[in-house]
Amino acid sequence: MARYTGPVCRLCRREGTKLFLKGDRCTTGKCALDRRSTVPGQHGAANKKVREYGMHFREKQKTRRYYGVLEKQFVNYYEEAVRQPGITGENLLILLERRLDNTVYRMGLAESRKEARQLVLHAHFTLNGKKVSIPSILVKAGDVIAVNPTSRDSVKFKSLLEGFASKLSPKWLEVDRENATAKVIALPAREDIDFDFNEQLIVELYSK
Ligand code: SF4
Repeated sequence: MARYTGPVCRLCRREGTKLFLKGDRCTTGKCALDRRSTVPGQHGAANKKVREYGMHFREKQKTRRYYGVLEKQFVNYYEEAVRQPGITGENLLILLERRLDNTVYRMGLAESRKEARQLVLHAHFTLNGKKVSIPSILVKAGDVIAVNPTSRDSVKFKSLLEGFASKLSPKWLEVDRENATAKVIALPAREDIDFDFNEQLIVELYSK
């Protein structure tokens, strides 16, 4: 399935929750979901009953869209989560959280995960000193992510670095705001993921 290129606010309206896909705009009065919360489409305002399958399916779609991954990739993450020891739902969220594009976003060096993905794709970051351009790389404890020295002076990074000092980062990342680097001090834990996911619904969906 191709990557979705339509208006992203539609995705939030479809899932009925803020997915924070547009950076700062999501926390202002300009948020489309705050202004119109109905499901998009001709019959969006109709009060439809959500069936059990629909609930499970919507939770999966919400999670997939939040992290910006394709269906096939999402299934691969799920299969990997099943293979790992521990609770499958938590494993799944932690795998998604460890993606390099998500890590760049969590560092505070992109307004959205979509922007982080673009920056990684264009090789604006290094991982342990080596240039990388694969957003789906999973970071591990001890990894160091840095802005590629050749990108630091670009107009884009000058503007991103302006607001960087005031950004908050999760406790699994040790961010050096002076040098625009981050070290993964430990793998993220479920409680570090501050979004309202019900991962058990996703596990039940794929276990049927
Ligand atoms: Fe979603 Fe952000 Fe658009 Fe609001 S502004 S609907 S949170 S993408």
